[in-house]
Amino acid sequence: MHESHYNLVMKVDTDAFLLFNSLSGSADLVDSAVVKVLRGQLINDRVEKYLISRGYLTSKTIIEEKSDMKRFFTEVCQTLFKNKEYGFVITYKCNLACPYCFEASVKEGIVGKRTTVIDDRRIEKAFEVIDFFDDLGDNKKISIKLYGGEPLMPENRRAVEYIIKNAITRDRKIAVITNGIYLNEYIDYLAKYKDRIDFVQVSLDGPKNEHDKRRVSISGNGTFDRIIHNIELVLLKGIKTSIRILVDSENEHTIPELIKFLKYHNWPNQDKLSCFFASTSAPNSNTLHNYSKVAIWKKICQYYEKGLLNEIFSEPIVYPFKDLFINKVWSPRFFACNAHTGLMIFDPYGMIYPCWKAVGQSELSIGRFYPSFKLNKASKRWKSRSVFMLKKCAGCEFSAICGGGCAYSAYVKHGTILEGSCEEMEVIKNVYLPFAYQRYLKKS
Ligand code: SF4
Ligand code: SF4
Repeated sequence: MHESHYNLVMKVDTDAFLLFNSLSGSADLVDSAVVKVLRGQLINDRVEKYLISRGYLTSKTIIEEKSDMKRFFTEVCQTLFKNKEYGFVITYKCNLACPYCFEASVKEGIVGKRTTVIDDRRIEKAFEVIDFFDDLGDNKKISIKLYGGEPLMPENRRAVEYIIKNAITRDRKIAVITNGIYLNEYIDYLAKYKDRIDFVQVSLDGPKNEHDKRRVSISGNGTFDRIIHNIELVLLKGIKTSIRILVDSENEHTIPELIKFLKYHNWPNQDKLSCFFASTSAPNSNTLHNYSKVAIWKKICQYYEKGLLNEIFSEPIVYPFKDLFINKVWSPRFFACNAHTGLMIFDPYGMIYPCWKAVGQSELSIGRFYPSFKLNKASKRWKSRSVFMLKKCAGCEFSAICGGGCAYSAYVKHGTILEGSCEEMEVIKNVYLPFAYQRYLKKS
């Protein structure tokens, strides 16, 4: 018996180690004595038996284990590729001018401002693509996202209603990713179909004084009061609402004040409301991201630890740790995100994109859906990017946790998506894992 090729031992406390095996799906919290038995430095029959039963010790050769893993990978792919997720960029036009917007250059376009709104014909063609994959038996549960630019501008109404109508006919749900400015104009319409609305997502950049410095209208005015009013309208109609709080080094200190505001409005007791944090550090955003993601996420975790954030705030634990700590199931991460499995985003110009941050950059398009559906060579690159085909990642001990990192970040940094991007793994190692350990394992 010897150590499995797929073991990973991570120190999480003075004498506590997380032991994973990506092939068997086992995960255990062990002490240094168990690690010594694993490594053949100590003999203990009972522990050895346990380690064999969990797949940490094996009689298989590396070649046999690798071929088991390949088989497992193929099975996982079959399910993941069926989990299609669709989005529509209704228009690239937006009514705000946030300084960090990662779509700023896309909105300007190469030959003038891109203000086109997706038309009926393109919407119909996009749904033909959706029908095509549905007929192949793909998963219909994931909601169709309305995205932009800003999807809910008054001039987009016809497109928004036509997409929702098409989605409902196909028994699909809709989610709306909006800046919230015109939610009041759409609220009665959305309420009419409230059972078909998965959620409405609105972003805040902190309490009023901070938010109004950054989330500004094109004429430079603050938007906080209007957005808050509109979120209240959505909640009053009983529509599930998700607030995305954008954080970076310039506003992280204002989180407690925002929480105070939310509590004052009794939002934490709204069962239709949830909040989560996101950073403004899109690899292609304009400003505000010259800081370490590790530092920001450490700060956010401290707010959790101080008990400042209650259950309406999703915890900053990423897949697969959420499964591991909450559901006690460990599954390896072969891909960083669903840009490599089932995500397709349709834009007003007939192009298909694989990733939310890549929309509008035609060199990253994976094909067209109008005038007819055709995937291009880049599609193969996006859909086959896994830890097995990235040179840097193939031998990395963290590969089954990391999945190769964000392809879009790799593109911005290296000019190709076929490179590993270690940034998120740094956050996982230095922030998420210690946080999850303290929260779920140490106390249990
Ligand atoms: S992106 Fe970096 S950390 Fe992630 S698997 Fe590849 S080499 Fe490892
Ligand atoms: S490639 Fe990166 S930016 Fe694009 S959807 Fe995936 S994680 Fe997000």
